[in-house]
Amino acid sequence: MLRASLLWLSEQPRIVQFVRRNGLAWRFASRFVAGETADGAVAAARELNAAGITATVDLLGEAVADPAEARAARGTYLDLLDRITAAGLEANVSVKLTQMGLAIDEALCVENLRAILTKARAHRSFVRIDMEQSAYTEATLRLFRQTFHPEFGNAVGVVLQSCLRRTARDVDDMIALGARVRLCKGAYKEPPSVAFPDKRDVDANYATCMERLLERGNYPGMATHDERLIERATGLARGRGLAPERFEFQMLYGVRRDLQRRLRADGYRVRAYVPFGTHWYPYLMRRLAERPANIAFLVGGMLKESLRAR
Ligand SMILES: Cc1cc2nc3c(=O)[nH]c(=O)nc-3n(C[C@H](O)[C@H](O)[C@H](O)COP(=O)(O)OP(=O)(O)OC[C@H]3O[C@@H](n4cnc5c(N)ncnc54)[C@H](O)[C@@H]3O)c2cc1C
Repeated sequence: MLRASLLWLSEQPRIVQFVRRNGLAWRFASRFVAGETADGAVAAARELNAAGITATVDLLGEAVADPAEARAARGTYLDLLDRITAAGLEANVSVKLTQMGLAIDEALCVENLRAILTKARAHRSFVRIDMEQSAYTEATLRLFRQTFHPEFGNAVGVVLQSCLRRTARDVDDMIALGARVRLCKGAYKEPPSVAFPDKRDVDANYATCMERLLERGNYPGMATHDERLIERATGLARGRGLAPERFEFQMLYGVRRDLQRRLRADGYRVRAYVPFGTHWYPYLMRRLAERPANIAFLVGGMLKESLRAR
């Protein structure tokens, strides 16, 4: 119920405007968001690299309805790729197709992402196409299979969400293609017709898909903070003699930093997802929906601030 309400709130434009003007909310968001400009993301990636953790940098923003905004986002990614290379960072980028214009015009989206992929290839970098709501799953995977992967090979990868009923089949397709997959549980509110309503089923499907990817996938990224699943992955890797270089764990910037560092110390590869930009409100609400204890933390911080201000 609470998760559904928070996810609903993440899509309300009036609330977005109110929260963006509220400095206290930003102070909380800054735990999960590296800054409103690329400078913050570059600094965060540098700090992570110093701890042996790689990064994937994401410009926040989705459901873009204006072609000029989609082109501006593409420009930010092109600059970002130059900056990552110039700074010698171990970092790639993550991009949402609706930010590139998928909801306006597919051709515009292809043109924008193609420009980013061309630059990434020139820099020997990598672009991960994030996965959004299920309304975009089919289009995202079709564009990946028919356009981006044939043109750019494994300089581009996709994301699959274990909450979706279709995902085990998509995992098999991507394994057959030799494509690079990030596996996550899925952050959006989905109808039961396409997604498992019970979290236990989402977790069980994650375990199934993860095992297939570990055994037969191409350098899969296990994106989760779920310690039971992480233990299962490391146990499987040990049992099957899979070298730690064959896969990576991925976690969100600011979430379970202890676990990120522990895995690194144990010799596993870890990548942090580093978001930046002014459109941080929906991202923040999804993080709150995942862990309602974060709300207590947010409200507690606000109360302390207002008492101090008196
Ligand atoms: C690198 C990365 C990339 C992602 N990309 C996508 C994507 O493209 N599309 C998509 O739909 N989703 C994406 N997600 C989000 C993902 O789908 C989940 O919503 C999110 O990761 C929480 O799921 P979990 O696997 O950590 O498991 P959960 O079962 O939700 O959480 C397990 C444990 O992790 C910790 N935890 C989880 N979230 C938080 C939090 N916000 N704050 C503090 N602790 C927390 C808690 O200890 C919790 O008990 C991504 C996640 C990661 C890590």
